[in-house]
Amino acid sequence: MIYAGIDIGSRAAKAVLLQDDTIVSSVIRDTGAESVKTSQALLKELLVGTGIEAGEIDYTVATGYGRVLVPYADENVSEISAHAKGINWYFPQVRTILDMGGQDCKAINCDGEGNVTNFVMNDKCAGGTGRFLEMIAEVLNIPLEEIGSVSLSSNGGIPFNTICAVFAKTEALGHLRKGVSRADILAGLHEAIATRSYNLLRRVSLEPGFAITGGISKNSGLVAKISQKVQMDPLLCADPQLCGALGAALYARNKSAIATPGVKMQYGYDDGTGSYFISIDEELCSGCGKCVDACPAGIFTMSRRNGRIVAEVKEEARKRLPILCPGVGNCRKLNSITCQAVCGENAIEHSW
Ligand code: SF4
Ligand code: SF4
Repeated sequence: MIYAGIDIGSRAAKAVLLQDDTIVSSVIRDTGAESVKTSQALLKELLVGTGIEAGEIDYTVATGYGRVLVPYADENVSEISAHAKGINWYFPQVRTILDMGGQDCKAINCDGEGNVTNFVMNDKCAGGTGRFLEMIAEVLNIPLEEIGSVSLSSNGGIPFNTICAVFAKTEALGHLRKGVSRADILAGLHEAIATRSYNLLRRVSLEPGFAITGGISKNSGLVAKISQKVQMDPLLCADPQLCGALGAALYARNKSAIATPGVKMQYGYDDGTGSYFISIDEELCSGCGKCVDACPAGIFTMSRRNGRIVAEVKEEARKRLPILCPGVGNCRKLNSITCQAVCGENAIEHSW
């Protein structure tokens, strides 16, 4: 039997072709502006040299930011679920995953079957993501694939006040003009990204069996810094950038296993002013929809995920949570009703 996993990320599109238990082909290319066209080109490329025709693929699962833009996919699954399933194929002992993508960063806990048990995502700004590192590589005029090794040649990193994409670029340029070496600038930036990643990981359970996935895990300097912070050597698979596509292909192989009950979704971010996360326990959520009607700020919506209707925080609200929501205590004083008050299942929590 033949299965395809297609991962349309914000920066890179990836695909894996599985024949029973064997990866027979894989592709990585830029996502570009048109995800539908990219997904079609990706499939063509994936089949080159395999002797397999598109019509022979038994089941295809799409994942990633553009997963709904893969016209030939039979089903789609979140990238969080896909990364957990993909890394489990290589390392069944993994329980904690840091997925560092093109435009966001996720900390994930999973069980021995690669099912997600907890998850937190920081997608507020580009700081510390693949896009951020691309920008820094451009500013310092060093090929992206070399910035990790250059940072490792530093004798002492220069501290950075921020990894906000805009301010860090200005700060890096300022240091460069003052004659600070590129290695020290990169070491400082990598230290700042590692600290931010560690703070994200501390929001889930940081258990042994630790893996890093996503394109950034090819950066040896950053992996070394993160490893120091978490005091564990991360497990890295053959190509960590393909982990999501592999996970999607594995879901395609076992399509009945897409439901992953017990996931606690955490939407929001940390910044210098505080920690703003709304958690929805999907195992507890009955899908009643009462929170959608109750919230005066219109923060919630309902979606079908993993075969169930559950509440989630609207995408457009995730980066503006403290502006939209005063926190449960203050909301209770201002309104007759709150999300928590109407949720009979106790599925919603706020961090502020
Ligand atoms: S009110 Fe609670 S149970 Fe109902 S949809 Fe919202 S989170 Fe789920
Ligand atoms: S506390 Fe109030 S404003 Fe905040 S999410 Fe709940 S209902 Fe909406």
